[in-house]
Amino acid sequence: MTSLGADATTPVGAPASGRSGLGRRDEVYIGGAFVRSASSDWCPVVNPATEELIGEVPGGSSADVDAAVGAARAAFDDWSSRSVYQRAQAMAGLPELIEPAADELVDLIVAEVGATLAWARDVHVGRLAAGIAGLLGLADQVPGPQQIRQSLVVREPAGVVGSISPWNYPYGFFTKVVPALLAGCTVVAKPSEVAPFSVYRLTELVHQLGLPPGVFNVVMGSGPAAGAPLAAHPGIDVLTFTGSVRTGQEILKSLAPNITRPVLELGGKSAAIVLPGAPFEQAVAGTLWNCYMNNGQVCGAQTRLLVPAERLDEAAEIAAKAASGYVPGPPTAPSSTLGPVVNAKQYERVLGFIRSGITQGATLVCGGPERPDGVERGYFVRPTVFSDVRPDMTIAQHEIFGPVLSVLGYRDEDDAVRIANGTDYGLSGAVWASSDEEAVRVARRLRTGQVQINSGVFNGFAPFGGFRKSGIGREGGIFGFLEYCEVKALQLPAGSPMAIAG
Ligand code: NAD
Repeated sequence: MTSLGADATTPVGAPASGRSGLGRRDEVYIGGAFVRSASSDWCPVVNPATEELIGEVPGGSSADVDAAVGAARAAFDDWSSRSVYQRAQAMAGLPELIEPAADELVDLIVAEVGATLAWARDVHVGRLAAGIAGLLGLADQVPGPQQIRQSLVVREPAGVVGSISPWNYPYGFFTKVVPALLAGCTVVAKPSEVAPFSVYRLTELVHQLGLPPGVFNVVMGSGPAAGAPLAAHPGIDVLTFTGSVRTGQEILKSLAPNITRPVLELGGKSAAIVLPGAPFEQAVAGTLWNCYMNNGQVCGAQTRLLVPAERLDEAAEIAAKAASGYVPGPPTAPSSTLGPVVNAKQYERVLGFIRSGITQGATLVCGGPERPDGVERGYFVRPTVFSDVRPDMTIAQHEIFGPVLSVLGYRDEDDAVRIANGTDYGLSGAVWASSDEEAVRVARRLRTGQVQINSGVFNGFAPFGGFRKSGIGREGGIFGFLEYCEVKALQLPAGSPMAIAG
């Protein structure tokens, strides 16, 4: 915790302004209003491109969490009694509110996360309004009651949802919040303390919808001070979390006493398998692009490239050529195509992984732990490619969360599948082959929640989530919606008029 000093206080409810300094915000959003946090300390917010302190937010307090959960519980009966269409209607104006605020949202993402201007505009913010509109459209897909023998099976809102989210896509929390609200749950969200200002601004837009007080609440603060009391709160029915495996494990412990239902979206170490006969250059360059998205900070990124052993050098050469096209630099400069990683801790972690790759004998094809040329400050990492990576090396096993690609050779298809499945994770992956049929056959052997088939692109409405340590449950589309429902069986007497004919 640090302090900007007493003079830095911004008026409660005032929008953040000034891109080099976002000021101090001391509020949380509870019961339909921005109110002063009960927290007595502060979380610093640092611009990763300049290493400057640009703002402060409440450090977090269990009193805020209690108040927010209380407000959400109080709002639950009314909100859950409305129809899914009424709830969709109540939120329908949000995409239109986002459009005029888009430039501000982009500036905040660039300042807090270090995403390049183009990535912030096209992905972080550019997909937000349409994504929310699409999620609201799920109202049309909600499965109706089902008749199973004498039982009528219905789905009901699960209750109060706690949502804890990471910094790499601050607006990603809406893939939790919108389906939860649509399902009839009320929500207490805790965004990451690393990138909170973008969420404050979005919360101001949600406020303009005029939802019933308490339906949507936001608390601020660190994991231990705000996240932990939220996860442990007996008033929470579902806790949906996106973040690291380590924190996911802590959260599961917090949920245990209340048997709170978890939805966990955790890390990944996804592999792209390039089979003989695949469009080789496209596959290698496409994997490197995928690995470097959002400055290398995407949970589902394909960070391991698996090629036939005899083509390892060729793959390394193509990957190095593609990496040399990346320009690390200030994310605000249109010429920059690779921004910094998010903070000093992450920077040291990524450099540590790069050093371990060198020490353990992988071939450093390009990049390395030095600062990129011409960059004097900021948490910038050179676009890095390792070849001759063995499956047991640290860089082949652990999530790095930076622009570092590991290229591994395999002997045959079985070996490729064994290597791909040979980590603790199981989030995503890719198979490149000479035909979609062949790629799908191999993809079915991967123990992951999602697999890209040849040049197939990401679909936010398909289920997304992990096998093994990559998580529990799914987000996206109707699968994500159903995580926020309970199932109830009503046993009907013979001849009941409530039975569904059929
Ligand atoms: P993190 O686990 O450090 O923090 C995530 C959130 O958890 C933050 O809001 C943090 O304040 C909170 N938190 C921390 N400790 C807590 C505790 N003890 N109890 C409750 N809450 C706590 O992760 P991060 O560094 O913010 O994000 C990076 C990680 O997120 C990576 O591992 C990445 O793979 C993962 N991630 C996963 C997905 C996915 O969908 N699978 C998506 C994005 C990011």
